[in-house]
Amino acid sequence: MSSPTERNRYPFRSAVVKDAAVKTVWVLGDQLNRGIASLSDATPVDTRVLFVTSRRLLASKRWHRQRLHVVLASMAKLARSLRMEGFEVDERLAPTLADGLAAHRAEFVPTEVVAMSPRSWNAVTMLEHHGVRVVANDQFLCSAETFAGWAATRKSRLRMEDFYRWQRQRLDILIEGDGEPSGGRWNFDADNREPPPRDGRPWPEPELFALDNIDELICAQIDELCPQAFGQHSNGLWPTTTAEAEQRLNRVIAEVLPLFGPHEDAMLHGEWHLAHTLLSSALNIGLLDPHVVVDRAEAAYRSGAVPMASAEGLIRQIIGWREYVWGLYWLWMPEYATRNGLRAHRPIPPAFVGGTTQMRCVDRCVADMDERGYAHHIQRLMVLGNLALLSGIDPQAMTEWMWAGFVDAAEWVMVPNVVGMSLHADGGQMATKPYAAGGAYISKMSDYCKGCAYDPKKRTGDKACPFTTLYWDFLARHEEQFRSNHRMSNAMAGLRRLSDLPAVRDRAADVLAALDAGTL
Ligand code: FAD
Ligand code: SF4
Repeated sequence: MSSPTERNRYPFRSAVVKDAAVKTVWVLGDQLNRGIASLSDATPVDTRVLFVTSRRLLASKRWHRQRLHVVLASMAKLARSLRMEGFEVDERLAPTLADGLAAHRAEFVPTEVVAMSPRSWNAVTMLEHHGVRVVANDQFLCSAETFAGWAATRKSRLRMEDFYRWQRQRLDILIEGDGEPSGGRWNFDADNREPPPRDGRPWPEPELFALDNIDELICAQIDELCPQAFGQHSNGLWPTTTAEAEQRLNRVIAEVLPLFGPHEDAMLHGEWHLAHTLLSSALNIGLLDPHVVVDRAEAAYRSGAVPMASAEGLIRQIIGWREYVWGLYWLWMPEYATRNGLRAHRPIPPAFVGGTTQMRCVDRCVADMDERGYAHHIQRLMVLGNLALLSGIDPQAMTEWMWAGFVDAAEWVMVPNVVGMSLHADGGQMATKPYAAGGAYISKMSDYCKGCAYDPKKRTGDKACPFTTLYWDFLARHEEQFRSNHRMSNAMAGLRRLSDLPAVRDRAADVLAALDAGTL
């Protein structure tokens, strides 16, 4: 049996079910909501609640401190509110999740242990192995089974756009009485590719949530248990209760949503969030229900408070992209996580892990990650992911690095986004062409290049932008593979027209050596 300090963080306990033979609901670290399927009908008289923190998981990666804080503090705060409702709550720190379960069973002898179906492949296997009764996960609008049913009806590839339209119709979201899409179009994405505004306009600042004694306790625990953790400690940026997550959503609907969309692909050196919602961590650990986000965005459009392009843009991210990667994960795992179709074996470069770099774009994104455990989508895809793709970083190493470093990370969302979307390691199963771009793209969509040591227009010489050089080298390295991809035909024609390819490839060899050495 674990010692009381190992087990319970707080001295107060409910007397309601003490010593009674009742069932246990085990709440996992990404199911942190009173309304989850396994807990919604539970009462303190018929249920005891279990939370387990695994030492092995804590030690398994070089986690970002805010990532650890978001999960551990949210667990502890849900445990506190359940205790205040009268539940007996067993919070355990154990060598592994299975050890925590075994110790709980030995101490409390529950009639059964119930859990909501986990979001990861390994956790499902573990629960099955240890005889936990699993109830269906209700934290997505499209279950893995429903997605598989949709996928089985498709004759060709599983396009996100097709899935998204099917979701809109099936769930009756932004659909008019005649069955047509609201606003007359399914997709306003074409309106959402604008370069960054250069007028210095302010963007809605996120609120900071007050830190309490639980937060302090968790930060101290992180220092003690995770000496390898990196990044700054929490300053209250990320919600750790459902009330805080709903407060963030209220602000998003009122202040961010009207601006959401047009500059979704833009990056500014002095603006880390622009009009991104910062909802992903709350959604991914269960504090916030995606149904609520979608309902609120649709209601804002119908009341005339936000334009169609903004509401549709956010709804597409939530019921489209988010649910699409969730469905693909379950459809293609476990083999999908191991894919390496471009045979990329480079390790994570020093520039990503505490080293310095003269690449102003990379430096900015890594510094943002360090400060908050966050980078927005285009920073992830077109700077960090793009550099990894062009230089040939190992997809599994990249998945691990991002998984440890982002506050919103989880295997189900990281694997399709890294292996499929970003690194094209699945041979094009998810994205028809690689998201590869040279410095010209970053220069157009950001202000990073102004003031950089490198020149986005140059592909050879000491000042050549590493992205530009590596872009051509990447196409040349994979010419055979991309030759038959019609969506790559313009890029491959450009490669054939390149008169200085040998010099570009020489420069690329130097760039890659400098990337590995941490001197780029
Ligand atoms: P916003 O830009 O405000 O978007 C709103 C919401 O849409 C997000 O909160 C998210 O829930 C959803 N969303 C949008 N695109 C995606 C997508 N491609 N996949 C899943 N959800 C999406 N998202 C994660 O939640 N966790 C990750 O670990 C993660 N890793 C990523 C790694 C790479 C290489 C890439 C390219 C993308 C990754 N994403 C991940 C997707 C996306 O970048 C983040 O969801 C987003 O940046 C979170 O910030 P936000 O809440 O401000 O999002
Ligand atoms: Fe990044 Fe190249 Fe622009 Fe520098 S010049 S900021 S390395 S894209």
